Amino acid sequence: MSNNAQDQRLPQRLVDILVCPQCKQKLEYDEKVNRLVCTNHQVAFKINDGIPVLLMDETEKI
Ligand SMILES: [Zn+2]
Repeated sequence: MSNNAQDQRLPQRLVDILVCPQCKQKLEYDEKVNRLVCTNHQVAFKINDGIPVLLMDETEKI
């Protein structure tokens, strides 16, 4: 019951500096599902407890 989506939102200034580990393109933050998207690779990176998991192995195809 302590899962508050509001608390898990990434700060914009963190989103601004995050890039895809592979192509170095800026990642887009999808607030609705709380994940980071590389539009180049068409994959989504998970965010675990407010920490982006920037590993290609852990991505989901979108
Ligand atoms: Zn990429």
